[in-house]
Amino acid sequence: MSMNPKNILEVRDLVVKFKMDEGTVHAVNGVSYDVPEGKSIGIVGESGCGKTVSSYALNRLLPRNASLSGQILFRERNGQVIDIAKLKPESKEIRSIRGKDIAMIFQEPMTSLSPVHTICNQISEALILFQGMTKKQARNRTVELLKLVGIPQAERRVDEYPFQFSGGMRQRAMIAMALARNPRVLIADEPTTALDVTLQAQVLSLIQDLQNEFNLSMILITHDLGVVAHMVETVNIMYLGRIVESGPTLQVFEEPQHPYTQGLLQSIPKLTGRLGERVTSIPGSVPSAYDLPEGCPFAARCPHRMEICSIEMPKPVQIGEDHTVHCHLFIGREAAEDAANA
Ligand code: SF4
Repeated sequence: MSMNPKNILEVRDLVVKFKMDEGTVHAVNGVSYDVPEGKSIGIVGESGCGKTVSSYALNRLLPRNASLSGQILFRERNGQVIDIAKLKPESKEIRSIRGKDIAMIFQEPMTSLSPVHTICNQISEALILFQGMTKKQARNRTVELLKLVGIPQAERRVDEYPFQFSGGMRQRAMIAMALARNPRVLIADEPTTALDVTLQAQVLSLIQDLQNEFNLSMILITHDLGVVAHMVETVNIMYLGRIVESGPTLQVFEEPQHPYTQGLLQSIPKLTGRLGERVTSIPGSVPSAYDLPEGCPFAARCPHRMEICSIEMPKPVQIGEDHTVHCHLFIGREAAEDAANA
């Protein structure tokens, strides 16, 4: 197995399905992307587009009724490449990667913090287990980490329980817990959605500072285009389990090419808008993941739909350096350009 030397993770044709009583949910339908070492990427889309499932698959954190195919190539610390998709979910290999090399921070901190243990016990445990520290060393490092993430009076608060922390402080403690494992990849799943706006900005800037300081590779998962705009170098736009557009964040924001990306950007309220001005929404609703449409997943809602769109899945077309779009509009344009150049 070989990987581009600049990447730490390469996801190829990832497919995740869930067997339910009602049928099969096609949650992720052939997703491919790269995570360069020390860089940040964003995965953006509405709820139910498969962005969270696709990232949980990286740690093989999927329920028993899930099936997974494709490749998840990960470069280990010793330089060896391992395909996480081939590992058994409870194998020793994935347990040495999950939460350690690839750490996660969640929208709701209480999903990772135990309510019945002190913050010190929870963070120290990772330091003792993963870094071989003594109890005393682990406590000192826990205090350092709490200071690093901006917890005031860390020496005293380290002995408190999560319920004694505010929402923003719990989020910071969860980030400290992720850092205690000395990760190389950080997956941040809607890390600030549950916080109010001022805290959101503080926590986002903290994550960004830590990403730079620890040279972390980061995958930021969000429905909020405003969040990714300032946080990641590359953005992947997902719709119904597929990436429909990906590219350098600024370029995708300034010149969105896929009709879905254009619709998403137009649906953000503008501060410069006139009073009473209506926000444009994307008409229609996302099709059921139980019964995927033939052809382009966005066809039912697309203002530019053509006959071929409901018959054939559009192939990826490169429209700029590292900028790719999955849309028949561009396949036609590419063919026309090829014919003109012939
Ligand atoms: Fe619209 Fe067709 Fe492009 Fe899909 S492939 S986004 S339906 S124009």
